[in-house]
Formats: sequence, C-alpha cells, structure tokens
Amino acid sequence: MENQGSNIWNAACEQLKSILSSDIYERWIAVIKCTEESGTALQLAVANDFYKDWLEENYFPMIRKAVLVVSGKEMEITLEVDSSHFDVVKEEPPPEAAQTGISIPGLGFGKSKPNHNLNPNYAFDSFVVGASNQFAHAAALAAANSPSRTYNPLFIYGGVGLGKTHLMQAIGNHIASKKPRAKICYTTCESFTNEYIDAIQNSNVSAFRKKYRKIDMLLIDDIQFLDGKAGLQEEFFHTFNALFENHKQIVLTSDRTPSEMAGLAPRLISRFEWGLVTELGKPDVETRSAILRKKADLLHLNIDHTLLDYLAERVSSNIRSLEGALIRVATFMSLTNQSVNVQKIDELLHDLLDKESQAAVNVDMIQRTVAEHFDLRTTDLTGKRRSKDIAWPRQIAMHLSRTMTSQSFPVIGQAFNRNHATILYAHDQISERAKDDRALQQTIAILKDKVKKNCAKAAQ
Ligand code: ADP
Ligand code: MG
Repeated sequence: MENQGSNIWNAACEQLKSILSSDIYERWIAVIKCTEESGTALQLAVANDFYKDWLEENYFPMIRKAVLVVSGKEMEITLEVDSSHFDVVKEEPPPEAAQTGISIPGLGFGKSKPNHNLNPNYAFDSFVVGASNQFAHAAALAAANSPSRTYNPLFIYGGVGLGKTHLMQAIGNHIASKKPRAKICYTTCESFTNEYIDAIQNSNVSAFRKKYRKIDMLLIDDIQFLDGKAGLQEEFFHTFNALFENHKQIVLTSDRTPSEMAGLAPRLISRFEWGLVTELGKPDVETRSAILRKKADLLHLNIDHTLLDYLAERVSSNIRSLEGALIRVATFMSLTNQSVNVQKIDELLHDLLDKESQAAVNVDMIQRTVAEHFDLRTTDLTGKRRSKDIAWPRQIAMHLSRTMTSQSFPVIGQAFNRNHATILYAHDQISERAKDDRALQQTIAILKDKVKKNCAKAAQ
C-alpha cells in the first residue's frame, strides 16, 4: 500500500474521516493515493479528471486545512491524475451495465458502479428552488419526467456557479434512477471537442459518430465553447439532428443565449431555440439562505441559522462561492472544535467578502446612474411625479434594481418609496417590452454597464 509510508497523509485522512460523513469520506477521500511525501510537500493522485475536478472544487480547502493541522505547517500539496496507481476495473460489467451509458475507467464507487459519468450529488433533491431558478428547474423536471416529449433541446443558460451543471446532471440522474438501461452521456463541450479531434487524428471519426448517435440522452455542458468553431459546429449539427430525429433528449448549457453566440452558425442557433431556452438567474438572498441551510445539513454542521443568513447576505455573486464560504467555516469549526460568530466569519472569509463588496451593485447607485443618464435628479425617481419622462426612467431603475441586485421586491420598494407590487409591476412591464424593443434592450445594456463601472469606481 502506497499510503503506508505517508504518515502525514494518513493522519490527515483520520482528521477528515472524523469531519466528513462516512459516505463522503469513502467516495471522495479514500480514493486518493499519496504518491510522495517529503518534509514540505505532499503529492496526491487520483484515477481520473472527474475526481480531480470535483476534489479541487469541493474538498481541497478542507484537505489543506487537515494537512496543516496534523503537520503543523503549510505544505505544498499537489493533486494529479495518475491512473497507474489504480486498478482499472477489470471484471466484465454485468449484462445490464454493458448496454448502458459510457463508463469511465477507474471510476468506481464501491460496489455499485455507476454506468454513466454523472455526479450523484447533482440531484433534484439537493437543488434548492427559488425565484431565480424556478422556471429552469420546472423545465428540467419536465424534461426528466418525459424526455424528448416536452422541451427538446432544453437550453439552460446563466452565469458562472449558478447551478447549470447541477441542474443538467439532475436530469440525467433522475432518468438513470428510473431507467437504469438508458444510455446517458454527459460531457463538456470541451471534452466533446477533444474527442472529436482525437478521432480525426486517429481516423476514427465513424466510431466517434456511432458513439454519440446511439445514446438515449445527450447532456453537453458549456456549449458556448462551440462559438466560432465552424468544423466542430458542422459535426455537432449532424449529431444533433440524428438524436433529435430519433426523439432523444438533448440538454445544453451555456453562459449565454444561443443568439448571443456571435460565431454560431444560424442553423445551429435556430436548432438550439427549437425547444426551450431558459435562464438560471442570480439567487436572491432568501434562496441563498435556503441553499446554505441545505448544505449545512448535508455537512452535519451545527451552526446558528442567523449566521447562515449573515453569510447569505455577504456572499451574493454565485452559489459556488457561497458553498466555498460555508466549507471554509465548516472546516474551521470541525478542525478546531470552536463555534463561530459574525467576527470570526469576517476573519475567516476576509478575502472573499472584500471581493464581494467591491462587486456589489446597490440600488442607490442604480438610481444615481439612471437619473444621470436621463438627466434627472435622484429625487425625481423616488418622488411622486408621474409624467412620462420621469415614470419611464423610474420603471427602468426599478427593473435594474431587481435584476442587478439580490434585493427583494419590498426592500427595493422602500428605496423608491413605493410598495412591492409597484416594483413587481415595473419589473414585469420592462421585461416584457424589452423582449422585442431593441432600443430598450440597448438602453438597458448601456445602463447596466454604467452601473457596474460606477460601482467599481466607488469601491476603489
Ligand atoms: P455552473 O455550472 O452554473 O457554473 P454548478 O452547477 O457547478 O454551476 O453549481 C456550482 C455549485 O453550486 C455546485 O456545487 C452546485 O451543487 C451548487 N448549486 C447551484 N445551484 C444550486 C441550488 N439551486 N441549490 C443547491 N445547490 C446549488
Ligand atoms: Mg458548469
């Protein structure tokens, strides 16, 4: 056993075992091999990219902390993919698995090896629904319940760390649990591209095509990677058509809408818009709190809910950062056996919170920017006058306040001396009109840009 020589790593594992649930420990930590240990550095290895990405994203800070605690010093820790340290699954798959999805060598979760490459943690159960994601969630659930019969393709777009991958894989996991024989393929557009390039180099394109055209469900993450790649788009177009014509569900995610991909062939844009294009927005503060409560439960973290609400207020940019913040607090609590308060949280998260406050857009700045743009005073926006030249900019400012901040309707209402229903109405009005009013779309884009610049300036 390679791990035996590694005292620090073994001790760190013991630490982690005491913090994490046995399921998580077995799944994510026990699979790591320590391949080298010196006085100052630890070299860790896992069997494939899937583990590496997941560990880096979710458990690396915790691993680092555990190593620090047991060794008493900051050590350089590297995590690499090195399949030579792992037994590739040799036994024949059971007949059922043989017909199902694409498996990754070396990826075995204990006895029940999945026959697809989905992350089991990305499920509908663990996805918290709020105002910012309820439509995307409902669409994903519909696609999972009746694949290819509701929205095909389902196109989910939104910013970084807002749950696109989670929701997409939840669809796959849902189907995998109901129909274990279904061939579900999850891949990122980047991997799809690399595989295609390899296939061309090895004159193996027909095998590549066969693989992708014979599956029951295709989940391609971060499809914006296709933007500007003509050859790849051509190949993808045919894969898309083959699957679509055979009534196979296709789910795509992207950081932008199809029409915002300037280098995408028009025929692909139109394909992508055939089904449903749905947005994952930034979660409001209530949803962020709910997410933190759910994650804290999953981590068996005994923490006061008011502190979770505090964290939710302070970390608003995306859910991944929110999760990272919670894991940092959880690691501190479990490694030191101390509880935390607001000051301790500020201290633990100082780098993260500083960044958040710099980026934070507030209603006050939106009002000032909109007033300046339309040559008005801020008090015109918050005052009573209803003439059109004031009411219109006011509605735009209300709409921006709702879309650019995570404030609730009542809080925005207070800032405009109105009730929440007025804000809701203004928000809906502007969203509706902006759908086919290009001039308004442009005004909104310009204003958003100005608001962001003004906020960044104010933070300096
Ligand atoms: P994206 O693909 O949009 O960049 P991810 O799907 O990777 O974002 O989400 C980032 C992290 O946030 C993941 O750990 C995911 O589980 C979590 N997450 C995102 N949205 C939610 C949600 N609504 N409820 C619970 N967790 C969420
Ligand atoms: Mg993603």
